[in-house]
Amino acid sequence: MKLQGSREIAEGTMAFYFEKPKGFSFEPGQFSTLTLLHPPQTDVEGDSRTFSIASAPHEPDLMFATRMRDTSFKRVLKSLAAGTEVDLDGPYGHLTLHKDAARPAVFLAGGIGITPFRSIITDAARRALPHHMILFYSNRRPEDAAFLDELVAGEKINPRYKFVGTMAEMEKSRQPWNGERGFISREMLARHIENLAAPVYYTAGPPAMVAAMEKMLRAAGVAGDDIRMERFSGY
Ligand SMILES: Cc1cc2nc3c(=O)[nH]c(=O)nc-3n(C[C@H](O)[C@H](O)[C@H](O)COP(=O)(O)OP(=O)(O)OC[C@H]3O[C@@H](n4cnc5c(N)ncnc54)[C@H](O)[C@@H]3O)c2cc1C
Repeated sequence: MKLQGSREIAEGTMAFYFEKPKGFSFEPGQFSTLTLLHPPQTDVEGDSRTFSIASAPHEPDLMFATRMRDTSFKRVLKSLAAGTEVDLDGPYGHLTLHKDAARPAVFLAGGIGITPFRSIITDAARRALPHHMILFYSNRRPEDAAFLDELVAGEKINPRYKFVGTMAEMEKSRQPWNGERGFISREMLARHIENLAAPVYYTAGPPAMVAAMEKMLRAAGVAGDDIRMERFSGY
């Protein structure tokens, strides 16, 4: 698969766009593994990383987004010239939208854990899916929040979609913020969801965040079957 280009989408966060291989199809919410071919440097973690597909199926490119830490894989990925081939393995995974549209979907995203939900939300708007959905998107600051503008603007495109952003460290931000503050909590959910038992919940992000979300949902009485999780191991 050929790299098309890349751009910074939040502080320290980049999106990488690849030419979609012929015949490649996926469901929004799935992930793939990218492998660098003949990288000039490597480390103990190897030349592959797993990333959720952040683009929706109707979008022309395959897009992945990641926090740019100082690891060999990411240094090499960032320096690749357009046209460079990268190996794609996938799609895999089951963090896909449930079929029963009578049940709302609630997405709990921690930081870069937004990627599968960006795909699902963009796809739902495009296909005018009947599901009601609420995205809770937690970041330290607006500066760190990938896709923030489009996720906010999505409410105008899809009347069944609601955005709830929350920032944990606004004291370190230079941008204005009128939304929620602090981590996603049961009280925060209750301010935006009438009946906490009604939705199917999806959560993705660093493993510690996903574990905290599962604990909070279970304590709120949500059934285990109604909690779908993707742990971004490696953070
Ligand atoms: C199903 C799935 C989907 C995923 N989707 C995404 C996605 O969409 N986007 C995304 O960015 N990631 C995603 N991940 C995580 C991704 O696979 C990588 O593990 C992650 O990006 C870290 O890669 P790395 O090269 O920065 O660190 P690695 O080189 O893989 O390092 C792994 C370990 O090194 C340590 N480490 C390395 N650098 C640092 C640092 N700067 N600070 C602190 N500790 C450090 C950490 O302890 C970490 O556990 C996903 C993972 C899974 C399993």
